[in-house]
Amino acid sequence: MKAWRFYGFGDFRLDEVPVPAVLPRHVLVHPLCVQPSVTEAQLAFGIPTLAYERVRRRLETSAPIQLFGHEFCARICEVGPGVSHFKVGDRVAARAKLPCENCPLCLSERSHLCRKGPVIGFDQPGCFSEVALLPEISLVKVDDRISDSEAACLQSLSDSVAAVETADIGMGDTVVILGQGSMGLECLQIARISGAGRIITVDVRDESCQVSRQLGADHALNARTCDVVSSIRALTGGNGADVVFECAGGSPRQGMAGSQTLLQAMDAVRSGGKIIGVAWYGGPLELDIDIFRERSLRYLFPDISTQAHLEHTVRLVATGRVSLKGTITHVLHGLESVDQAFEITANKGKYNAINPAQVMMRQPAAV
Ligand SMILES: [Zn+2]
Repeated sequence: MKAWRFYGFGDFRLDEVPVPAVLPRHVLVHPLCVQPSVTEAQLAFGIPTLAYERVRRRLETSAPIQLFGHEFCARICEVGPGVSHFKVGDRVAARAKLPCENCPLCLSERSHLCRKGPVIGFDQPGCFSEVALLPEISLVKVDDRISDSEAACLQSLSDSVAAVETADIGMGDTVVILGQGSMGLECLQIARISGAGRIITVDVRDESCQVSRQLGADHALNARTCDVVSSIRALTGGNGADVVFECAGGSPRQGMAGSQTLLQAMDAVRSGGKIIGVAWYGGPLELDIDIFRERSLRYLFPDISTQAHLEHTVRLVATGRVSLKGTITHVLHGLESVDQAFEITANKGKYNAINPAQVMMRQPAAV
């Protein structure tokens, strides 16, 4: 079969490799639609972010390796021994970070706190290939009302569901969301159906602000044309927001905000309010922690998404409570266009992309 393999940062090639053998409690799938996550797209080009060191070490010791591909929709073509919830022909999506199933946390029903399990696409190959081997515990069945293209966004959406749950929004709270990329727009829609009163979103791109308004933002501020903090303060009677989601920080090389938006979040949140850290910065930051102490600010980080979160995302999209269609801007065709999807996703601002660029696979018979 054909699969993308990484030889080093910025060097990935479509190679011929053996089809994996099915394992107990695993399935083989034909990917139908797959997209690089923003993190994967940055790592592919060697830009420091989450898991950079881990990927660098693997490339140095084991290249060429199949990497990435945890955001997908796929159809099961073979089930291994012990698989009980899925059958051949089922359409599935997955969560990426899995519990180890062996540690004291996992054995005491706290597996959502486990960090010892594998991550799909990082510790084992994801779906940038004609066939992929996936553990049953990562999967969820995709409802017939959800398209292949929408289903490829479910993994990211389940992380956003976990982020909004972590925020524990009070009924009627004013919520600010800095950054209207795919996760910012997902947090917007989920916050809206989870008790948020007024929602103020911020981005530097007009197309993102426009989609944000369509998806329910009460105010979509363009940070290039207004002072974000004073605008938010004016809209909240001088108090600041109850909850601020920071979904904009990251590498300025890719058009993201560095750590500037975290400083804005600290200024835009009310005393005793919550900042939810969704963004990754790719390295240490200098922060005036005394401000958190003085103003009783809570800086919280999302739990990893669980099977329950993933199943909830399926219901949210199937029933139209969360809409993904307006965010999917770039759809490519055929496994050979994966490198182009990485390029677009790593530079979304340059290509006017909102969701990562998707790759629709050809059906196996046509390969
Ligand atoms: Zn564990």
